[in-house]
Amino acid sequence: MNARIESLVRPEIRALRAYHVPESAGLIKLDAMENPYTWPEALQADWLETLRGLELNRYPDPKGHALQAALREAMEIPEDMGLLLGNGSDELIQMLALTVAAPGRKILSVDPGFVMYRMIGLFAGMDYVGVPLQAEDFSIDLPAVLEAIEREQPALVYLAYPNNPTGNRFDADDMVRIIEAAPGLVIVDEAYAPFTDSSFMGLVGDWDNLLVMRTVSKMGLAGLRLGYLVGPPDWLAEIDKVRLPYNVNVLTQVSAAFALKHKAVFDEQTRTIRAERTRLQDALHRIPGLHPYPSEANFILTRVPEGRAGALFDGLKQAGILIKNLDGTHPLLADCLRFTVGTPEENAALVTALESLLTTS
Ligand SMILES: *Cc1c(COP(=O)(O)O)cnc(C)c1O
Repeated sequence: MNARIESLVRPEIRALRAYHVPESAGLIKLDAMENPYTWPEALQADWLETLRGLELNRYPDPKGHALQAALREAMEIPEDMGLLLGNGSDELIQMLALTVAAPGRKILSVDPGFVMYRMIGLFAGMDYVGVPLQAEDFSIDLPAVLEAIEREQPALVYLAYPNNPTGNRFDADDMVRIIEAAPGLVIVDEAYAPFTDSSFMGLVGDWDNLLVMRTVSKMGLAGLRLGYLVGPPDWLAEIDKVRLPYNVNVLTQVSAAFALKHKAVFDEQTRTIRAERTRLQDALHRIPGLHPYPSEANFILTRVPEGRAGALFDGLKQAGILIKNLDGTHPLLADCLRFTVGTPEENAALVTALESLLTTS
């Protein structure tokens, strides 16, 4: 090992393995919670026309004012609340950590949950505290969370609503109890907002430590990398100071503003995905040995017969379908696979392949 690497790179970074994105060329992609639908041709043409006028030699609007206005209008953001844009919500998670990180400061969330809370906390030198969800239904263990908040005094608490990778939505009263008990910020991560009817967006401002974070990724614009944070303006003004200038590029700003003007197209697509989620859920239930969990997101966590997750993942890949194998990532996720809801054809291919894999052995 290169001695300089060994002496210079922080041990916690050296111990990591880089975030792994599996090769997906030629496969039906049901691994990453993407919207499977593209835009109608006329809309694509209008969008390209919009890009024509851009001046790539100029820096983008540093705050993305036009995009902010489009988001405020499309997403029912309370008028008196602040809005901050990020290069994906991952960058907002990073900005939050950079704003509060100091030796001994902690990030608290529930496990299994979104891995970037832990990872980005570690990059910023913060400690992560994960409180296990309840084994039977992945609901919040409220006494355990309140006890951990009391003990650890976390600077940041993250709650994904609905949760990834479990797909369930936590009890809103539990969330409120946590917001009221937390000494620091509570960030409600609504990455899956298009797939549920529940939201804390209308409640920002009710507590001075509540922020709501969203992304346009799961709605159908994952390639743009755009997340947004909503909360009390005094908080957002501080977090804005660690934002790199021009963090949201001009192509993203213009394309997202354009897309939001046509939000009805995305609403139609996400409605279809929600209907497909129900159909896929029913089909998975009918396959002997599978136990799909309820979902308010665009994926379904499914428990498979003991010890079979790896073989099923491989078998599906052989059949041309890429999914996510969660077995081994957390004790509560033993024998669990995660299927992103795709088009009716993709979901049918998944169900057929699962049936064949589970009956031929
Ligand atoms: C996908 C996801 C994100 C990341 O969103 P980006 O905007 O694509 O960075 C954040 N939180 C949760 C819970 C997610 O599942």
